[in-house]
Amino acid sequence: MRKPRQRCSALARKMAVHLQFRRYRLPLRMPLRTAHEVWTEREGIVVRLEDRGGAVGFGEAAPIPAFATETVDAAEAAIRSLGEWPTEEQLSAVPTALPCVRHALTEARSDIERPVGDPTDRSHPSAQSDASYRAVAALLPAGRAALSEIHPKLEAGFRIFKWKVGVGAIADELGQLDDLCAELPAGGKLRLDANGAWQRRDAERWLERCAERPIEFVEQPCFASKTAGETAQLRAEDTLRGLAEDYPTPLALDESVVCDADVMRWLGNGWPGWFVIKPSLLGDVVTVLGKLRSAKSTVVFSSALETAVGARSALRHAFAWQGEPKALGFGVWPLFVDARFDGPALAPFIRSPDFSRLDPAVVWNALS
Ligand code: MG
Repeated sequence: MRKPRQRCSALARKMAVHLQFRRYRLPLRMPLRTAHEVWTEREGIVVRLEDRGGAVGFGEAAPIPAFATETVDAAEAAIRSLGEWPTEEQLSAVPTALPCVRHALTEARSDIERPVGDPTDRSHPSAQSDASYRAVAALLPAGRAALSEIHPKLEAGFRIFKWKVGVGAIADELGQLDDLCAELPAGGKLRLDANGAWQRRDAERWLERCAERPIEFVEQPCFASKTAGETAQLRAEDTLRGLAEDYPTPLALDESVVCDADVMRWLGNGWPGWFVIKPSLLGDVVTVLGKLRSAKSTVVFSSALETAVGARSALRHAFAWQGEPKALGFGVWPLFVDARFDGPALAPFIRSPDFSRLDPAVVWNALS
């Protein structure tokens, strides 16, 4: 049995597929304040692969500049260099330094295995029941504005909220934390995202306060970027590990794990906390998620503010995750001025048909 299969895959590697791509620059409905900048538009690339049998697959490369994976220019150059008819072998040989390109091509290839528009995706457990759903975390603005925004979201049915912290003075924010917690119904929880803004002492003050409050986890309390130098980075990592051991509230890595290698390194170091995973930024999502699963890690799936093409892929991975399902960080749509690019509309839950029905050809055609 083994030999014919090997011959088969060797043949598949040499078979060429038709590669096309469309670069996009899409205005956002409203300016979006991230931890690092204000976005008014989103840039990325949608790829389309078609095999000789006419099967089509789509993928999206949506790098986040502040996360320092590849730039969109580098992604475009790499895709262009593959030519119009790359072989499977060439598609697999894209360097790991280009995780978003690898992601787009891998997703497009796996899409080919599954007819476009076919809602029954038999490779994933989510396809087995239309009743399959995940809770979605609602985003709250930083500061006191969160207090007025939480009410309509509670009424809409949201129970998990993500609040940006590390923006104002600590004493003010700690006071607001108590006011926010007072608004939560039984079972309601807050996620705090510091985007790496705290020093160790700030983080300790916060984590002491969080210990007896309904805080689901604290995301990236401290961080040093690669550009800050190795010493600063090691110190920040050391602080994170110390905090994770000293306090009961789980800590989750986000900025620390922006590519496959980052996740592998933290797993290798025995990180006891959670992982925020943006599938769109990982070159080989299946392998990385497999390692996280083997390590029994807790994973929170999150949007990279991609179009419906990337959203469909990312949500497919989130629904296929066999670990404990945590509320999804996908409460971002409607995001674009042109609604044809949006993923599933904001609601307290996403069901599998909400994303399996998304048609990437609509995005593709809208970009022509
Ligand atoms: Mg974050």
